[in-house]
Amino acid sequence: MKFARIAIALAAVAAHAAAQRPTIGAAVRPYVSVDTPTFAITHVRVIDGTGAPAKEDQTVVVTDGKIASVGPTPSNQATKQPSTLVIDGTGKTLMPGMVMVHEHLFYPSGQGVYGNFTESFSRLYLAGGITSMRTGGNMNGFGELALARAANSWQKAAPWIDATAPYLEGPGLALGQVYALKDAADARRHVNYWADMGATSFKAYMHISRDELKAAAEEAHKRGLKITGHLCSVTYREAAEAGIDNLEHGFLASTDFVADKKPDECPQGGNRFLMDLDLASSNVERQTLNEPVMALMRFLVAKKVAVTSTLTVFETFTPGRPVPPGLDMLTQELRDQFMRRYEQTQRSTNSQYTKLFPSAMKAEVAFYRSGGLLVAGTDPTGGGGVIPGYSNQRQVELLVEAGLTPLEAIKVATLNGASYLGIQDRVGTIAVGKQADLMLVAGNPSANIADIRQLETVFRQGVGFAPAKIRESVQGRVGIF
Ligand SMILES: [Zn+2]
Repeated sequence: MKFARIAIALAAVAAHAAAQRPTIGAAVRPYVSVDTPTFAITHVRVIDGTGAPAKEDQTVVVTDGKIASVGPTPSNQATKQPSTLVIDGTGKTLMPGMVMVHEHLFYPSGQGVYGNFTESFSRLYLAGGITSMRTGGNMNGFGELALARAANSWQKAAPWIDATAPYLEGPGLALGQVYALKDAADARRHVNYWADMGATSFKAYMHISRDELKAAAEEAHKRGLKITGHLCSVTYREAAEAGIDNLEHGFLASTDFVADKKPDECPQGGNRFLMDLDLASSNVERQTLNEPVMALMRFLVAKKVAVTSTLTVFETFTPGRPVPPGLDMLTQELRDQFMRRYEQTQRSTNSQYTKLFPSAMKAEVAFYRSGGLLVAGTDPTGGGGVIPGYSNQRQVELLVEAGLTPLEAIKVATLNGASYLGIQDRVGTIAVGKQADLMLVAGNPSANIADIRQLETVFRQGVGFAPAKIRESVQGRVGIF
């Protein structure tokens, strides 16, 4: 009897603890700017992440890491407890923390080497307003899983992280942690081993076979996990048939329309249909991209396959684009390395990206308008210049340049990411009962999307962080840690 009573008391304590704010680790403390059980942001414009119009002059109350109320700012502040911290949101906008799905904790540091910069990168993501993210490929094996565990238990100033296993790749990319799968049975072993070790998602890569992809998807799904892919040897249609959940890089990695495509082989020359897309005659709003492309999009929608936009990495390949933001975070050497490449890109007169980049934008908008689940990421690989946090904000700007409204682009970067990851009941929108993952920005991103860069405070689970303070700890040092 006594034992039962103690057990019930302990259960009550546990339930109470679950509703509490997180226990903030010592390494996180220096960056925290708001740490109080209850606070209110008053007179603030709210973009809730669902795509609904912004609401003016709202008050959002956060209690114990959750959104307790959202509504018009009361004319008298009678509801306010004397002990409640009040943040004046006049002229500012509150939007959900971003949920981005093609992030990395490594960076091309030269001569085919990817440096794992887990510390600086995870901090910079948080400083850019990302509160949840999936890594879209792991070049650090256990290191990446350990970082995710530390981030998720508040031992690091970082977003919540869904950590991928090392790539599922055939013989092709001989690099770092990348293992060459032998066959479908090998793919099954790979998935189960890394899931046992703590990986929570999977990524297939360019030289995987259809059988290996199908086997990997089956094993991942048995464990309630998802699999994405940056494909080449397998077409988008074949991947959807094999059970893939997500395709990376918009339609830039599609080999569906390569005339001489051989099964399970990555064709030379890669993507053609975006090159051949007649931009002048296609009208995205009326969905009149050429019919085979639209048929593929409808197939992906029917199969519930999400597509990830990673325009940021392709922008760095495209002549005539601005210098990407955040380069001052890099060491001098990495900055010089990127700038040499950037200048080379500007001098190029026959880059295929001059055509590919706007076509890729158009295809992504067409997918969104077809009812597809478009999600967003940045992919800090390529030739460098995609800087975590900064590039996530840039990615949202590029979605608007592509043709989405600012509210739609914000939805892609928040609710859609959460929906894909299956965490939409907890994060991704501003609503009562949801986790207080929030961005407080100066200005109005629903009118001017570039205002998203004016991030003043990012809240993860109701704990506020000062982006400037985080960035200061990293400035000039990406490349070291
Ligand atoms: Zn990637």
